[in-house]
Amino acid sequence: MITLTGVTKTYRSGDIETAALKSIDLEIAEGEFAVILGPSGSGKSTLLNVISGLDTVTSGKISFRGKELTGLSESGMTRFRRQYLGFIFQQYNLLQNLTVYENIQIGSDIGTDPLDIDELLLKIGLEKTRNKYPSQLSGGEQQRVSVARSLAKNPAVIFCDEPTGSLDEANSKNVLKLLQELNREYRKTIVIITHNTGISEMSDKVIKMNSGKIVDITINPTKKDAK
Ligand code: ADP
Ligand code: ADP
Repeated sequence: MITLTGVTKTYRSGDIETAALKSIDLEIAEGEFAVILGPSGSGKSTLLNVISGLDTVTSGKISFRGKELTGLSESGMTRFRRQYLGFIFQQYNLLQNLTVYENIQIGSDIGTDPLDIDELLLKIGLEKTRNKYPSQLSGGEQQRVSVARSLAKNPAVIFCDEPTGSLDEANSKNVLKLLQELNREYRKTIVIITHNTGISEMSDKVIKMNSGKIVDITINPTKKDAK
């Protein structure tokens, strides 16, 4: 589904160059649940950002369902991201002056084939919070709203950067279950940066990075259920 060939990313600031990605080859299959692991500074965020078109590559190619993305104009890239990609970050980025329903509607409005918001609220167990504001919700509920928002436009791929990073254990488990459901029931491809071993255990593939390179890819034969 997503193919990276010889992708490099070099940041330049003044005379200083940082090779954040060094000739990355990677294949993410349709419906796959892939985890990216690695120490701080190893290039995980940069990898996620270039795959998802938040940042450009320095060289190399990225294609999506056979179509080359590198080379798309900025507006072409924006259209592509709107149509196909969902994002979940550690920060929930909810708009405080909008209700849960309205926050999710923002996600739904930019989709070409959006999901029904009330159905989604029911599915994610947020129906009782429909008309509440973010400040009236727990951290776990807020993260579920942000998951619902990213799902509402019905994207093909969901990118996550430490989605459980600021959650306690109970709420992390809810988000884990939700990610598994997105992967299994909604057949979403998931690419996720996380140190949460519970998430690695339920993934199809663990991609390990170090110093801008992929140093190991492990296919998970014993994919576990979210507990
Ligand atoms: P990780 O997500 O694994 O912590 P990053 O992808 O954030 O790693 O960073 C990889 C390398 O690229 C690091 O050395 C980091 O300092 C550098 N880097 C990341 N973003 C920028 C930027 N905007 N400008 C300059 N250097 C950057
Ligand atoms: P980290 O090393 O924890 O990944 P970074 O400095 O790379 O932190 O990024 C800061 C945070 O901003 C990350 O959590 C990243 O996912 C998030 N982020 C990056 N781009 C966006 C965006 N367009 N919208 C919202 N959050 C973003």
